[in-house]
Amino acid sequence: MTRITMTRLADGREILYFDDAGSAERPAASLVDHRDLPARPEPGQLRFDALSREWVAVAAHRQSRTHLPPADECPICPTTPANQTEIPAPDYDVAVFENRFPSLGPDTREIPAAPGWGTAAPAVGRCEVVAFTPQHTGSFAELGWPRTRTVIDAWAHRTEALSALPGIQQVFPFENRGADIGVTLHHPHGQIYAYPYVTPRAAVLAAAAGEYFDRSDGTATLTSSLLRAERSDGSRMVLEGEHFSAYVPFASRWPLEVHLVPHRPVPDLAALNGAERDELAQLYPDLLKRLDALYPTPTPYIAAWHQAPLEPARRRAGHLHLQLTSPRRAADKLKYLAGSEAAMGAFINDTTPESVAARLREVASEPAGAAARTLTPEGAPA
Ligand SMILES: [Zn+2]
Repeated sequence: MTRITMTRLADGREILYFDDAGSAERPAASLVDHRDLPARPEPGQLRFDALSREWVAVAAHRQSRTHLPPADECPICPTTPANQTEIPAPDYDVAVFENRFPSLGPDTREIPAAPGWGTAAPAVGRCEVVAFTPQHTGSFAELGWPRTRTVIDAWAHRTEALSALPGIQQVFPFENRGADIGVTLHHPHGQIYAYPYVTPRAAVLAAAAGEYFDRSDGTATLTSSLLRAERSDGSRMVLEGEHFSAYVPFASRWPLEVHLVPHRPVPDLAALNGAERDELAQLYPDLLKRLDALYPTPTPYIAAWHQAPLEPARRRAGHLHLQLTSPRRAADKLKYLAGSEAAMGAFINDTTPESVAARLREVASEPAGAAARTLTPEGAPA
């Protein structure tokens, strides 16, 4: 079992330590934050865009946040006498804490339900940082099975806890990897946003999922049906496990895009059972290693966990999935969102999903990915 210890940083922010199964207990005295931190900043603003009926977070105070610090000033390495970090422990396995420069929060409460032109509200919600490892270098793919399993427990725990906060409508765990896509810290880490509204993309997905669910009289989720169709077609499949499978979507938008989907229609990570989490801790790094095996240098990516919104009407048809995307279209070329994509939301993809899937299947036969094909994860409980 992953061990969880909750405490607070000097300015009152929550920090949680998730320790690998079987690791030694941490003395409370070793977790005290001795820094003299200024009071937390006032929240930014949420403004309603009446043209598109979408909320926009205006967070000017984030301009002063840390940007690509040198390794000896990393704010998420374990604390040393020379570098007092956001994680005041001499060592940790996985740590989750409230972002010091959040775009949403720290308060959580409901926002206006019938907004129009000129509607603004404090940018309530929650932004958390997930440090995947105490090691400053490396990647999620290289964490190893036990640590990956701990991260999954951390995501599940935070999903459940943040979902219970007042006014939260959607919880979104994600990882941005690579300076090319705007990462401001090299240390392997992810983030979790808890929004006081349903994001535009989640609203579109929930509407399509709800319509399909109703047409099937509540017998099938849209994601289950797509997964079944992809598995029977086969041309876009990347890997198939007992509980999860991954495929390049039929109409993928990005040069590299893969969806990793649980076979059981669960709404979020918190609903995954032990066997599902065990397999996910193996298949997800396998997928990331395949992305990195495509080119001589690591591939920048965005790993986005689509969880069902919390409002019951939008939740009932929800089906968790990971959307893994990269703008990389060649070893030295990135796709930029230009006129059609950025202004119109109309994507033009220069790769075919079938050829991308074939390449991602092939790289698995190379040594780096080969070990991950077996379904008995190293270090997994028997
Ligand atoms: Zn670091």
